[in-house]
Amino acid sequence: MKTVAIIIARMGSTRLPGKVLMPLGFDENDCSLMRIKEAMEIVPGLDETWVATSTLPADDKIVAWCNDWGVNVFRGDETDVLSRFAGAAAAAEADVVIRVTGDCPFHDPQIIGEIIALRAATGADYASNVDPGTWPDGMDCEVFTRAALVATDVEAVRPSDRGCVTQYILRNRHRFKTASLPCPIPGLHKERWVLDTVNDYRFCQEIAKNNPHPSYLDILSFLNKNPQLRALNAIHPRNERFLADLVQEEPVKRSYDTSRRMRQAAEKIIPLAAQTFSKSHLQYPTESPLFVTHGDGGLVYDVDGNDYVDLVGGLLPNILGYRDPDVDDAIRRQLDRGISFSLSTGLEYELAQRLTRLIPCAEMVRFGKSGTDVTTAAVRLARYITGRNWILSAGYHGWADWAIARDDARNTGVPETVKYLTTAFIYGDIGRVRQELTTKGYACVMVEPETDPAFLKQLRTLCNATGTLLVFDEIITGFRFALGGAQSIYGVTPDLATFGKSMANGMPISALVGKRQHMKHMTEICFSGTFFGETLSLAAAIATIDKLEREDVPRQLQQKGDLLRTEVLALQKAHGLSVLRIDGDYFQRITFYDGAFYTKEDMKTLFMQEMIKNGVLIIASHNFCFAHTKDDMERILKAYQATFVAIKQALEATAVRNSVIGRSVAASANVRA
Ligand code: PLP
Repeated sequence: MKTVAIIIARMGSTRLPGKVLMPLGFDENDCSLMRIKEAMEIVPGLDETWVATSTLPADDKIVAWCNDWGVNVFRGDETDVLSRFAGAAAAAEADVVIRVTGDCPFHDPQIIGEIIALRAATGADYASNVDPGTWPDGMDCEVFTRAALVATDVEAVRPSDRGCVTQYILRNRHRFKTASLPCPIPGLHKERWVLDTVNDYRFCQEIAKNNPHPSYLDILSFLNKNPQLRALNAIHPRNERFLADLVQEEPVKRSYDTSRRMRQAAEKIIPLAAQTFSKSHLQYPTESPLFVTHGDGGLVYDVDGNDYVDLVGGLLPNILGYRDPDVDDAIRRQLDRGISFSLSTGLEYELAQRLTRLIPCAEMVRFGKSGTDVTTAAVRLARYITGRNWILSAGYHGWADWAIARDDARNTGVPETVKYLTTAFIYGDIGRVRQELTTKGYACVMVEPETDPAFLKQLRTLCNATGTLLVFDEIITGFRFALGGAQSIYGVTPDLATFGKSMANGMPISALVGKRQHMKHMTEICFSGTFFGETLSLAAAIATIDKLEREDVPRQLQQKGDLLRTEVLALQKAHGLSVLRIDGDYFQRITFYDGAFYTKEDMKTLFMQEMIKNGVLIIASHNFCFAHTKDDMERILKAYQATFVAIKQALEATAVRNSVIGRSVAASANVRA
């Protein structure tokens, strides 16, 4: 088994030409390439080092440097880096290859050795410390089998895959087994130790002149003593250019064959082949993915190796983005202590303190696992406190009997007595609420306070007058509208409120909060679960809420939404169309219109089909996350542009329904889980 490191290096660089050979200052031979070569010489488990450079005349200098210092060199295509890299691996007769880049002068041999050992021990096709990126930018190292490289070189066609050796492997997670070495020290993903700009050069020189071969811990302690250095080059996000290139890429042909095969197999043993209506084939057009492998920031990847900007966000929990380093680090640290215990933990109190500080009505708190847990607990508590049985509600509040009682499309199996005790009304219809509350004794009114503060104020007054508890279901609005929920924006304080979804960036946890006078009775009703208080979710919730507050995330999400809405509506107008509307200031829902020759369901299906085809996973809302970048936003707009063109063509041919491949998606507005 021959293990070979291949350093990708070239003289041409738009930002800093010649960077790999620029003097770094420790001695007269010091430069990035020299440092990497010397680091590789002491990597445990490494047999040989090669440089892969281009055939451009400018790179003769790199070849001359390699010849001077006895380093193997391979020359290949400048832009098709994948074929160049594969060529070098073949020339070296490598079984396992290590990809390092010439613009990372501070590679740490110990870390590289650990990744080599990790790959061997796990039998992975690919192991790295970049996925997720928890190490400082510039410590990047990927180790993979030659077989995976050969398959990639044969199959990869997208320009972004050919320009970046391992993107194809990373996208096709269902085919390649991967392993990851996380950084043991939290927060280091924010460090930038690469050589790509003039400011990076100044930064690298400062580090280099003190130490010929600093370990990553040496660099860290040097920076901790000289923190001002970090300001030199901190502004560039990781993978900046790669992500920008993706925006320019032409739409790729997407296949969903693996998704289809998996659905067929799963349906034999999993009814619906999914756990949630909205994540199943019922919600998506025929030409759609059905299974994902992983997510990263604002992106998600399916089992056919397709990538998407994700505007579904796991049905809203992913408020920070997939694999948020701060939240994941909190989860990892808690994992080292244990998950579900025999007694309570202090994490419950820590999280409760945050909720009581942030949410106006929250004087006391209890935790559940799902939204349904806590909306149902609110209903039971309200019934117990008021001694009344009737419930008045608007909208979706989960899958429990009481919550689904009045949804005729989904209430099979719900006893008639439960249906009888539940009354549904349309949000905003204060006349109906007045009539109901003044003719019957209701335990509570539950609403989702998405809009219309005047209505909410009237509701508060009516509830006070009739002794009815007012419950805000803030499962969607909570933490997304504001850290204190919609109640903190609209100035109406309910008696009880429920939170979930965005609370822990994807971990399953929910909360029932409310005024002490009501919540103190929680000890008298049955609300008790084995997994209530499970600690990974509590730790994740604390880290999520702290980050939402630190980064002022709700305001950032609102800004993204405002920007996108303006641009999308302008695009729609420019195409002479009027097929959709975008409502909501803090959370945007998309509504489609019926046309003369088609239904709004047909239009929604065509819209989703075309957006997905153009690389945006979307249902009928813009579920932004903190990690969505400017480039992601541009990709979304490009997809809208292509989608409006397709819709216009379909309308001109009066063929909206025919343009939908397969069946139309039902407008399941009420079922959001
Ligand atoms: N309440 C609202 C407003 C929701 O949107 C949902 C789910 O989408 C729920 C309650 C139920 O939450 P869960 O699916 O976590 O049980």
